[in-house]
Amino acid sequence: MRSRWSDDEAREFCTRFEQWGEDLALRVYTSRLIGSVPSLVMHGGGNTSVKSTARNLFGEEVEAIYVKGSGWNLDTIEPPGLPGIDLAYLRRLREIERLSDEEMVNQVRTHLFDAASPNPSVETLLHAFLPHKFVDHSHADVILLLTNQESGEANVREALGDSIAVVPYVMPGFDLSRVAAEVFDQQPDCEGMVLLQHGLFTFGPTARESYEKHIELVTRAETWFERRTGSTASFGSSPPAGDRERRELAASTVAPVLRGLLSRAEEKPRRWVLDFRCTQEIADAVDDEVLFGVLDSGPLTPDHVIRTKEKPWMVPAFDAGDPAGWRRAAEEGLDEYRRAYVAYFEEHCGDRNLERLDSLPRLIAVRGLGIFAVGANAGAASIAGDLVEHTVEVKCRAQALGPYCALGQQDLFDVEYWSLEQAKLGRARAPRLQGSVALVTGAGGAIGSAVVRALALDGAAVVATDVDPESLAATVARANSAGGARCVGVPMDVTDEASVAAGFRAAAVHFGGLDLVVLNAGIARSCPIDELSLADWNRVLDVNLNGYFVTLREAVRLFKSQGTGGNVVVNASKNVFAPGAEFAAYSVSKAGGHQLGRLAAIELAPYGIRVNMINPDAIFSDRGEVASGLWKDVGTERARSRGLDLEGLEEYYRNRNLLKVKISAEDVARAVLFFAREETPTTGATLPVDGGLPAAMPR
Ligand code: ZN
Repeated sequence: MRSRWSDDEAREFCTRFEQWGEDLALRVYTSRLIGSVPSLVMHGGGNTSVKSTARNLFGEEVEAIYVKGSGWNLDTIEPPGLPGIDLAYLRRLREIERLSDEEMVNQVRTHLFDAASPNPSVETLLHAFLPHKFVDHSHADVILLLTNQESGEANVREALGDSIAVVPYVMPGFDLSRVAAEVFDQQPDCEGMVLLQHGLFTFGPTARESYEKHIELVTRAETWFERRTGSTASFGSSPPAGDRERRELAASTVAPVLRGLLSRAEEKPRRWVLDFRCTQEIADAVDDEVLFGVLDSGPLTPDHVIRTKEKPWMVPAFDAGDPAGWRRAAEEGLDEYRRAYVAYFEEHCGDRNLERLDSLPRLIAVRGLGIFAVGANAGAASIAGDLVEHTVEVKCRAQALGPYCALGQQDLFDVEYWSLEQAKLGRARAPRLQGSVALVTGAGGAIGSAVVRALALDGAAVVATDVDPESLAATVARANSAGGARCVGVPMDVTDEASVAAGFRAAAVHFGGLDLVVLNAGIARSCPIDELSLADWNRVLDVNLNGYFVTLREAVRLFKSQGTGGNVVVNASKNVFAPGAEFAAYSVSKAGGHQLGRLAAIELAPYGIRVNMINPDAIFSDRGEVASGLWKDVGTERARSRGLDLEGLEEYYRNRNLLKVKISAEDVARAVLFFAREETPTTGATLPVDGGLPAAMPR
């Protein structure tokens, strides 16, 4: 591994964060250098600190330590992500014999310089007890490769030399801080510290020295590993051969079944997001009988346990000859996994008064296929997915050294049920559609864009689809910058069966399946009947009616294989009840789509699938940013036929409804949310979003 220190960049950071002082500016710089290498730290892992000073209200300079705060990631950290704490006081805590987790957090929090700071890292005291100005800590993959072995300590000494202090495994927190400080005191001139089955600490008088020592030790470990085993230690994987076939199978058959089983497993049904992963190493591991067994060993470092659970759920290979038999076997396997989890809880809980977490897996390893990461939302599933990619890589490489050796169950349990780790998952109230996955057609248009954003903000992972990749990309960017759940864009042509099927498979690969489909893609053509060409007529019906049918059919197939119900929202139109002249193809296609929805509501109710219709009146844009394609196409003609300009037309529509309101794309999006949240036991219903048009009232 090469040092990426650059004097120019370091100077840039000093200029950018001048008001925070050079110590913090450089601390931010090298923290980001470490944070940007996934084989060093991932997702909030690792932490860094700098000892400096702070000035109090009396103008006195006091000793301060600035440590990474929880909620910040090293690769994007900024000075406020390194809260300052009274260093002299923290040092004194070493004299205390015992300190509970809660009291440790309290002691640190009450000695912050800014009461509004985030909680400093749980490893703060370890940083404070070391004398050096700069301290860097990572969970480097190659260090874990060496230490997660029976001969872990010997490996470290052989690879890194005697100038490295080795700390035995102790659960993070006050005890580890004290043990590490004692080990350091016995070897005060050590180059760095390896914490067995945990990670690496380096330190130095400057940001550069501490950082470069980190890189040097990681490189030394890599070199030793390569010499010893003859295989490479560099991390970073590529997709395996046959990747496409694996994804197809995962998406078309396996993911929806597994997702359905998870959702129904607990007494209270709950939706989960699945993220399919298959790197070269994952493919090697799930294809090989021996390596597949190795996956069953615990996580790389104990902090992963809250994201991945102690063990994955191991599922036999999909049997194309007997899918029902495979499904039954999977169902039994999940029951067994859950029973084992409850037993693990009861065995390790002891006499502590702990509340058991759900008994469902966060990783599903399917023989011959790949691994599904499971999360309460797309973000959590993706974090578990990233962690498992690294874990499998390290475990596969470790085979060259000796049998992989995970932490014991009790150690893992203690971290899984450690209040300070659980706090990382956040206790905020989950958004209403958390865990749900939605697919929206015509997402590049005004209504589509608003619907995608609203669903994501309400917690649903969203697959946005459109035939036009440019407007689709814009919708995805807007939704993702709005700060809701994750949204991915999948180009899809609703008039092409293969394209629609591929879009649904993409949803299953990204998120494991679907719970809501919004039929929305549409075009319009304004023309008197005697002048309307058959080609134009067919074109409108093809997109608006056939497109709805093909998308609905695919949705029903997926919903049935999941077995967890589902929601379909049909964007019909006020035209269904109150058609306008010179709008034959459009009105007929919309009436057909509406009728399809009513019929589907009747046919699909036994499967718990609800189908509802929304009938909006003219929508001109989404927040004035995305103009409605439909109105771009027909607006001018509709306006001309009424003797108005486009603005006048918008005003005309406003004035013709009872409430005298302009209908916005966001109004339509809220109507979709109403159905998606299943607020009322309703199917086959029509909800007008038109400000009140007596002629268009459903009857
Ligand atoms: Zn750590």
